[in-house]
Amino acid sequence: MFVPSIDGYPDQDMAGGAGAEAKCILLLDDDVQFRALLGTVLRARGFRVLDAGSASTATELLLDESPDLLIVDGLLPDLPGVEWIESVRQRDTDTAIVFLSAFWRDLETFQRLTEELGVSLVAYKPIEPMVFAENILELLRPGPKRVDSVRPLPSSLPPDATDTLRARMATLREDYARELPHKLDDLESLIEAAKQRPETTKQAASSAHRLRGTAGAYGFKLVGALAGHVEDLLMEYQASPLRVRRNLWNEVSRALDDARLASRDQESAARLNIAPGAPSTDALSTGTILFVDDDVDARRAASALLRKQLFDVCVASSGPEALHKASSIKLAAAVVDVHLKGESGFDLCRQLRELPGKERLPLVLMSADQSVETRVAATHVGASLFIEKPFREDAFSIAIQQLVDEALARHGRVLILEDDRDFANHAELLLQANDIDTRAIVNPADLPVALDEFRPDLLLLDIDFPNTSGVDICKALRMSLQWQTLPILMITAHIDDDTRIEAFRAGANDFISKPVLEEEFNARVDVQLTHARLLQERAERDPLSGLLLRRPFLEALEQRLSEARRYDRSLALAIIDIDHFKKVNDGFGHTCGDTVISGLGQLLRQRFRNEDLRCRWGGEEFVVVLPGQQPDLLERALGRVLQEFSEMSFDVGNGETFSVTASAGVASSPDDGLSAQALIRRADGRLYQAKNEGRNRIVGPGDNMEEARTGRFGKLNSA
Ligand code: GH3
Ligand code: MG
Ligand code: MG
Repeated sequence: MFVPSIDGYPDQDMAGGAGAEAKCILLLDDDVQFRALLGTVLRARGFRVLDAGSASTATELLLDESPDLLIVDGLLPDLPGVEWIESVRQRDTDTAIVFLSAFWRDLETFQRLTEELGVSLVAYKPIEPMVFAENILELLRPGPKRVDSVRPLPSSLPPDATDTLRARMATLREDYARELPHKLDDLESLIEAAKQRPETTKQAASSAHRLRGTAGAYGFKLVGALAGHVEDLLMEYQASPLRVRRNLWNEVSRALDDARLASRDQESAARLNIAPGAPSTDALSTGTILFVDDDVDARRAASALLRKQLFDVCVASSGPEALHKASSIKLAAAVVDVHLKGESGFDLCRQLRELPGKERLPLVLMSADQSVETRVAATHVGASLFIEKPFREDAFSIAIQQLVDEALARHGRVLILEDDRDFANHAELLLQANDIDTRAIVNPADLPVALDEFRPDLLLLDIDFPNTSGVDICKALRMSLQWQTLPILMITAHIDDDTRIEAFRAGANDFISKPVLEEEFNARVDVQLTHARLLQERAERDPLSGLLLRRPFLEALEQRLSEARRYDRSLALAIIDIDHFKKVNDGFGHTCGDTVISGLGQLLRQRFRNEDLRCRWGGEEFVVVLPGQQPDLLERALGRVLQEFSEMSFDVGNGETFSVTASAGVASSPDDGLSAQALIRRADGRLYQAKNEGRNRIVGPGDNMEEARTGRFGKLNSA
């Protein structure tokens, strides 16, 4: 045992309180480095820490010491951690115990530990020592519950889904209708078996339970309700088979017969609903592509092409027509010709994005003119893609698909863990109809891998599984650092208060009962996804400017840089700094200064494409990154934005106004380096140069001290 110094930690008294004796923790783990790390953090929190590398050492220690808390690793060299805890509990039932495990997937152990062995916390490795220490503090000191500290994860592209939903929904419903009589047969034989051997009642009940949840979702509402009645009767029987009412079995078979009748009636009804040629529902469409071109041949060719890709198309020949149509339909993207008769495609793009709900509408511009000026202007209005005219079929198709995929990825991903395949299929269809990407798994054992691979924004979690419970899965997730803030929507046919309370205690965010009502299901999922998005925004964005904060920005930049290296593409980066900002603060007050920062933030937000990164680097400094672009394009696009910025007039409040300028330095990959660090250093050097040369200018890779351009964006005209 080593006794480390705790000097330099201001909060070293926290665990004991001033003057009180420090609380003692026994840390049992065979990894000496792990003990050193966690021990250091815990000691810094003021705990006295004893450490042991094996169960026998720990047992020996306990002869002389009586710690307040035991932290026990699951894998020990001489004994499984669980068995050691068992031996401890034979002598001591009170001491708090925290179990550390590398696998959270072992739910049986989890239940044993928390329910039988009185373990207070099961935490999963890798732990975040600081957060873990927080948990320990809370455990040993009554107080408010843990705060979530983990950010949701960034999104990836969804897999391609070209099947039309309507056809799949029809097929699935037909399959279910075909299988329903067999499901009822199976239930009946399980019930017969239960009559003979009461100990098998549980199987019959869970078969009824699945029907209860799913039949309704497929339109067999009465069947679902009757199956629910059967389940309730079986549960009653299971609870006390001896004292059961004599007419129970009669009631069960009556309910079963009714369910059979109902299934036949409803089967025909369901078939009518999904017959081919039935009216299409808007919910099944992924949105329409707006194509704006004054050339009738181009319109015809493009709509044929887009329809072939299963997109709905809407064409317009002029700006006003396009705006009129766009304001009344849900758009997936807009493709706009730069040269419309008598008007500018650029203006139209700007106007389209100003329509309510369309500020992030993916835009594609088309032009025969491939000059840098045109490309700069396209970037300026936020167009993600620029297509040459006349367009080549394949390039056009790929571009549109890419754009729509990206937009789709923003609708979120939902993972479904549900052992009832029919219910999962139904839920998937409902979600996909709302452009949500889904994955469904049946077995809780597959959850860890699915979470890691699919990185969902929401988990739909069934509450009943053959060998475990959704509540425990939920608890386990809440204790893993990575998934402790993942929104979880529990699905169950039990709607009693106790189940609800238990699930909320375990950390479920919301609840939905089977059979699900389509509208309710959509609404609850939507609430969770929106909330998660807001939390992510809050964690990643600076509230004043609305731009990315430094850390998430750097993560995104690393990703773009590695893509650029892999595909041998360029990337341009600029650092922007407001000129003489101190004078704004000193002359007009800090609040006025804040208005200036948020003004520039808003411009940077609006004037670039969705895929460009924009960040508030700190103070009055900003960074803009254009993946795939050359530095001169960024210099020019930014030049326009800084020009606009210098023309903005800020109100002091007493009728007086003032204006501000900014300077920037630009660097690019690969010429100025391949790493984020190198690029930022180069850009910062050029920013310094711009300041030295009189401010209100941009210095890029092509600018030497001697030939630097001056006075590009007007003058500082502080009133
Ligand atoms: P230069 O042209 O050389 O950049 O001159 P400057 O006055 O802008 O110099 P400097 O970058 O050193 O000053 C930045 C100032 O910005 C200092 C700081 O007080 C102020 N500042 C930093 N963050 C904020 C903020 O969030 N709001 C306000 N109002 N001011 C801020
Ligand atoms: Mg400044
Ligand atoms: Mg500065």
